[in-house]
Amino acid sequence: MAAKKPLNPLLFSKPQIAKERIEILLSQAQKYAKEKPIFAKRCISLARKISKRYRVRLTKLQKLSFCKECETPMLPGYNVSIHLLSKKRLLVHECKNCKSVHHYRY
Ligand SMILES: [Zn+2]
Repeated sequence: MAAKKPLNPLLFSKPQIAKERIEILLSQAQKYAKEKPIFAKRCISLARKISKRYRVRLTKLQKLSFCKECETPMLPGYNVSIHLLSKKRLLVHECKNCKSVHHYRY
């Protein structure tokens, strides 16, 4: 009986590579949000696809950095309004692009 072949080390690091790629794509999206909005949207949709494909969760800050409905990067004061509801302890995001409203607990 032949000895088992050692598994490819790249197989184990795929989630790590995916995390790095997601970080790069989201930073690119933030950088080019004003100059190239279509490119920024594409970056975010790719980052979300990668996170689903390799089952990598986005961090809280990464989730807050774009609109879930239209996938545009959120720049406070430019395309999103943020306010706090202190009695309900909620952070409210209003996307000015697609008019969607999202609530986050804090
Ligand atoms: Zn939106």
